[in-house]
Amino acid sequence: MLINADLHIHSRFSGATSEKMNIQTISIEAQRKGIDVVATGDCLHCSWMNEISQCNVIDEGTFELNSTRFILSTEIEDNKRVHHLLYFPSILSVWDFKERIKSKSKNLESDGRPNVNLNGEELAQIAKDLHIMIGPAHAFTPWTAMYAYHNTLKDCYGEMVDYVSFLELGLSADSNFADKIRELHRLTFLTNSDCHSPHPVRLGREFNRFEVKAATFNEIRKAILRIDGNKPVLNVGLPPQEGKYHESACISCYTHYSLEEAERRRWKCSCGKRIKKGVKDRINEKAEFLEPQHPDHRPKYVHLIPLAEIITKAIGQRNPFGKTVTKRWSELVDTFGSEIKVLIDVDIDEISHVTAPAITEAIQLFREKKVIIKPGGGGQYGTIELPTQDEGDLITLKLGPKDKQTSLIEYSG
Ligand SMILES: [Zn+2]
Ligand SMILES: [Zn+2]
Repeated sequence: MLINADLHIHSRFSGATSEKMNIQTISIEAQRKGIDVVATGDCLHCSWMNEISQCNVIDEGTFELNSTRFILSTEIEDNKRVHHLLYFPSILSVWDFKERIKSKSKNLESDGRPNVNLNGEELAQIAKDLHIMIGPAHAFTPWTAMYAYHNTLKDCYGEMVDYVSFLELGLSADSNFADKIRELHRLTFLTNSDCHSPHPVRLGREFNRFEVKAATFNEIRKAILRIDGNKPVLNVGLPPQEGKYHESACISCYTHYSLEEAERRRWKCSCGKRIKKGVKDRINEKAEFLEPQHPDHRPKYVHLIPLAEIITKAIGQRNPFGKTVTKRWSELVDTFGSEIKVLIDVDIDEISHVTAPAITEAIQLFREKKVIIKPGGGGQYGTIELPTQDEGDLITLKLGPKDKQTSLIEYSG
């Protein structure tokens, strides 16, 4: 069977998260988005674990609420500020892991995403002892990520490097970028939302589609390891240009810079503040290949834009979180079952019977890869624009190599 899985979220017990990140709301919103399995995040936190225990137990590492399955996971910051993702086979392994790290962490009981005074190698050793999976989270971002502080996987995980089986790409990268780096070819790439809110613009904005025999931890583990016929069959995510750190840009005024220009300015913006190196530039710096060399096991990467964002642009709204957009979004999702079906599967004629012509047209433009993206950078998300019909050609013309502000998304669906 095929399942859609978002394997990185945060509960309301992590910093800067929505109060709505409770297990009930997440389980309902995941269904509406079209996500079958969600990784709980924050599972080292006692109060969050209490909430998780409201779910039905499917097996020792798999839980269910409102038809959404959950597996146990957390994100941890190590002593070099690198973020790691961990997936646990059972509640028992969560307790054992906490026991092993508790003397090394000051905020284990207060923050859903704790800091621990251990390095990547030490963390991976403990994970291996307890059969917990571990890999770098959002590996290329300029803060709190593996490639922000290390030049290689081995630098980060030392002698334990072979135990690492996956890497999370993060919102600002895709497999076309990451497969320019040779050492990543053996890893499974994960595409996850890392969301702090259950809103459909956030939850499931990136997900993995796995071939498995059941929607359980063990089956997902095998899919990540690519054994017993299980495997990832799709990575689905935002066009990387939409990510907050795609291009190098100032963290204060968001002026974008080319790598050469940023270096010439010694990473200081004309406004005086710092320029942060974008994921695109960091990967190209690290790249052994000019063009991505995909290993045979690498699944296709499909770029998706959240439906609420498409609706927002189509009906001239500014805010994808407002009532007007939510009403339109719900009409479509209630009719066709999930957001993913509306974006990819449902016949466009059927969509036109349910919603406004402008929205039908915008979904069609998205499917035809004609949505235009202004890249993000410096901590500011990229934005999408819809070409008007008459402007289609004009806008395409503006997309020459000299214009760095806009680029067509590559939608390989
Ligand atoms: Zn993180
Ligand atoms: Zn600036």
